[in-house]
Amino acid sequence: MASVRSLMLISTAVGVVGLSVARAQQTEPSQPGTRWSDAQLREAVATARVGRKLTPKMWPNGARVAVCLSFDADSEAPLLRDGTTSPTALSASDFGAESGVPRILAMLDRHQIPATFFVTAVDAMLHPDMMAAIQKSGRHEIGIHGWIHETPTRVTAAEEERLLDQAVESLTKVTGKRPLGYRAPSWAFSAVTLDLIQKKGFLYDSSLQALDEPYEIESRGKPTGVVELPIDWTLTETPFLGQNGRMPNPAFLYQLYKDEFDGAYDERTMFVLTLHPYLSGHRAPMHHLEQFVTYIQSKPGVWFATGAEIARYVKEGKP
Ligand SMILES: [Zn+2]
Repeated sequence: MASVRSLMLISTAVGVVGLSVARAQQTEPSQPGTRWSDAQLREAVATARVGRKLTPKMWPNGARVAVCLSFDADSEAPLLRDGTTSPTALSASDFGAESGVPRILAMLDRHQIPATFFVTAVDAMLHPDMMAAIQKSGRHEIGIHGWIHETPTRVTAAEEERLLDQAVESLTKVTGKRPLGYRAPSWAFSAVTLDLIQKKGFLYDSSLQALDEPYEIESRGKPTGVVELPIDWTLTETPFLGQNGRMPNPAFLYQLYKDEFDGAYDERTMFVLTLHPYLSGHRAPMHHLEQFVTYIQSKPGVWFATGAEIARYVKEGKP
């Protein structure tokens, strides 16, 4: 049986723990925004905002919708970034370069349509055959997706710039052309990513999600001249078909994409789809992707274009 004295000691100890938790909450709130002033809240969102909407009155040749099929052609780079060298894990990502991209390119050839491939410089270096295959038809664009899929929010500003410079230089050597389009690895802008996009002279970004039509990005109240071709977490397959995805059948996913496309068609704006060859290059999703492309092609007034073609058109009024 516990003595009165030991019960008192226990209750005192509990009291001390309770007090220290309360103090910790006061000094390190887990929800810091709850204490921000109006000015701090405005400042927090000011880095990259929606500026002018850029959907033109009419797309080239009187088309009513612009369609950009984009592929984040990630292979081993994101795993290597984290130091993973397991051949099994690497092989599942290598599928993207070895099987996914060739299958996607064959499908695009059958339909004679262009696409944009965002690649990391490391994946480009490891897969010269994939890079040559993407460039073969002359229809496709290659945009940049980081050096080794580094997460911009997890490196210093100086390191982010060093990696971006290194990536641009390396990818320019591989393709013979400086990339015009930027898509942030993991779609994650840091506080300086937009400044770097401007400084390095990119025509457009495709990482933000504030609209589902093209817009000019504004930063701290000023237009940046950078075109945004927005993407969306519903218009990609990783949350559904990826390792933690729970999509039993890609048919459901393509029903969602079809409804999104129909909406863009009705609104006369733009439809951007982002797929990953290491997932979407498998047989079942490829079957649905091809059916989807056939459906889009059956509609009159669709302009299939690369991201750079769309960005140039909305910025300069010509394809
Ligand atoms: Zn990626």
